[in-house]
This record gives sequence, C-alpha cells and structure tokens, in this order.
Amino acid sequence: MPTSLVTGGAGFLGSHLCDHLLERGHRVICVDNLETGNLANIGHIRREEFRFLNLDITTHFEIDEPVDFIYHMASPASPIDYARLPLHTLKVGAYGTHNSLGLAKRKRARFMIASTSEVYGDPLIHPQPESYWGNVNPIGPRGVYDEAKRYAEALTMAYLRQQGLDTCIARIFNTFGPRMRPNDGRAIPTFLRQALADKPVTVFGDGSQTRSFCYVDDLIRGLVALNESGVHEPVNLGNPHEMTLLEMAEAVVELTDSRAEIVFEALPVDDPKVRQPDIARARDLLGWTPEFTVRDGLERTIAAATPRLEARESAVPAASPRPGGSSGPVAA
Ligand code: NAD
Repeated sequence: MPTSLVTGGAGFLGSHLCDHLLERGHRVICVDNLETGNLANIGHIRREEFRFLNLDITTHFEIDEPVDFIYHMASPASPIDYARLPLHTLKVGAYGTHNSLGLAKRKRARFMIASTSEVYGDPLIHPQPESYWGNVNPIGPRGVYDEAKRYAEALTMAYLRQQGLDTCIARIFNTFGPRMRPNDGRAIPTFLRQALADKPVTVFGDGSQTRSFCYVDDLIRGLVALNESGVHEPVNLGNPHEMTLLEMAEAVVELTDSRAEIVFEALPVDDPKVRQPDIARARDLLGWTPEFTVRDGLERTIAAATPRLEARESAVPAASPRPGGSSGPVAA
C-alpha cells in the first residue's frame, strides 16, 4: 500500500485529495497547521490508513514512516488570506517548500508542488500555455502569493536538477466545489453565500473579466495523474471553459433560485483581466481532461451548501438576520 503525505490536507483541495487517495488504496498522512484549513473538512474520515499531524511546515518537520508521494498543497490561497498573511504566505512558499522538498529527498518520495495560474500574473497571452513566463507585479498586493509560488517552482526545479529529486509542478487554475469557506473572498463561495441569503451579489468592475472554473473532482483526478506520472515539467490543470464573472454571478443566482440582485464594486488592484488554461500538455502527457461542466459542478456545490445553511438557519431564533449576506470582497 503506497503512502501519500498531503501538506495542507485539512484545506479545501487538500481534504478532497485525502478522500481520493484513501479511495485509491493509499495510506494518507495529512499535515496541516489549520491556518486556513479546518478539522471539519477531514472529520468524516475514520480510517486506520489516515493520520493527521498538526504541524507548521515553515519549521523543519520529520515523519517517522516511509512516504512514497508528497502532495505539497499548504499555502494561503485566497486573496483575502494572503492579504491578511503576507509574510506567512512568503514563508510557506519558501521555507515550507524547502522543508517539504527536504523530506521528499530523505524519503525518496515523488514530490508535487501545487502551483497556480497566478504565476502568469495578468497574462498577455491567451489562453495561457506552460511556456508563457508571465506578467506578474512583484510589489503589488498579490505579489506575496504570485512570487512565493514562482519561487517554489524555481526551488522544485533546482531540487530536480541538482539533487536528482523526482518532482512535478501542477499549475492549478480556479477550482471550486464543496468545502470552500463561504467567507474566503473567492468568487464562487461569495456569490453562493450572498445568493442563498437573497443578499446583493457583488461583482467587481463591470464583471467582464474572465475566469475558467474547474470542478474539484476533476482537478483532484488531474493532480493524482500528474504525481503518478513521470512528468517533470509544469502542467496546467483547469477547465478551459472560460466565462465572465458576471455570467458566473448570473448562473449562481439562477441555480439557487435567489431573489438577489447583482451589484458592481470597484476592481481590486492587479485583478487579472483574463484567465484560461491551455491544457494541451495535460491532455497529451496525462490523458487528462475535465469532465464536469460548470453547471454540474455548481449544482453539486449548491447541494452540499444548502443543508448546512438550512441547519444554521434553523439553529438561530426567528428574529435573527439570515446568515451571510454582508457584501465582502470578491476575487477569483
Ligand atoms: P486552503 O486555504 O483551503 O488550503 C490550504 C491549507 O494549507 C489549509 O488547510 C492551511 O491550514 C494549510 N496551511 C497553510 N499554511 C500552513 C503551514 N505553515 N503549515 C501547515 N499547513 C499550512 O486553500 P486551497 O484552495 O485548498 O489551496 C490549496 C493549494 O492549491 C494552495 O497551495 C493553493 O495555492 C493551490 N491553488 C488552489 C487554487 C484553487 O482554486 N483552490 C488555485 C490555484 C492554486
């Protein structure tokens, strides 16, 4: 039975990855300091093959058993998280990646870094192929995240080239699904929280900026295919179906049967205008393509969010306001 270690395993993507790897017959070690993750994301896992370690990976850490695969997912990932934790975001990208790569070397494990489409910045090429070097503002508010990931990619390549480590780089595009935090500031959970509470759905700018949203199950399948392949170069993983944020807001309002109106707010600094993965490499090297449409994914996400919301509503006295509904920042 192979053993996989998932850093950031109690987060949104990490917890789905733990589920998937266990289903696949792996033993799973989940490492997380719960900075933006939550034990509730892994609370349903009650299996001997699963182990949770509450560790901050920015300091040296050791694992007392063999490890075959490392999925390095730990990092603040939403714009409001890395705005709140700028130094931590840089430290996780640097020290956290160093420590995880060092562990991979000691264990002779295959290593995957969860990188991001944000390494392309506000792209001047569309759609974005892996060969594009990007257009990143290093000193803007998003710089701490974008540059941390670019550094983490450089570090991963240095371990591959100099240390002979077996590594790969997943460039993840916007992904959504159950377990996203309603207040994490990313577009879909914010729209959902607002629409389910019949409160104004806040779109930045005129909503014409585009994103490509991938359903979580597809993304996780891609991460595992990549880490179990022999590929070393970066691979884009995302759904190439591109839509404007206004179209996404309208779809959420429609699918939630919401009475919410859509309102517009100022664009954040350095908000990318377009975002669409070129997934030719993932298709050619891994045989991977996304299977869920955005609507299918949204329906599943809404179905998972609705019982929780109803439970919360029935727990508050009738005179209290409905949960959610404050117009927070929306980013993707
Ligand atoms: P998340 O915030 O839900 O998960 C990140 C996890 O890392 C959390 O559980 C957090 O507690 C943990 N963590 C943070 N610092 C840590 C530390 N020092 N030690 C141990 N654990 C730590 O975010 P997510 O959306 O699941 O993103 C996971 C990874 O995927 C991130 O690396 C992110 O950059 C990348 N990614 C995500 C998306 C997306 O759309 N969700 C897109 C591109 C890249």
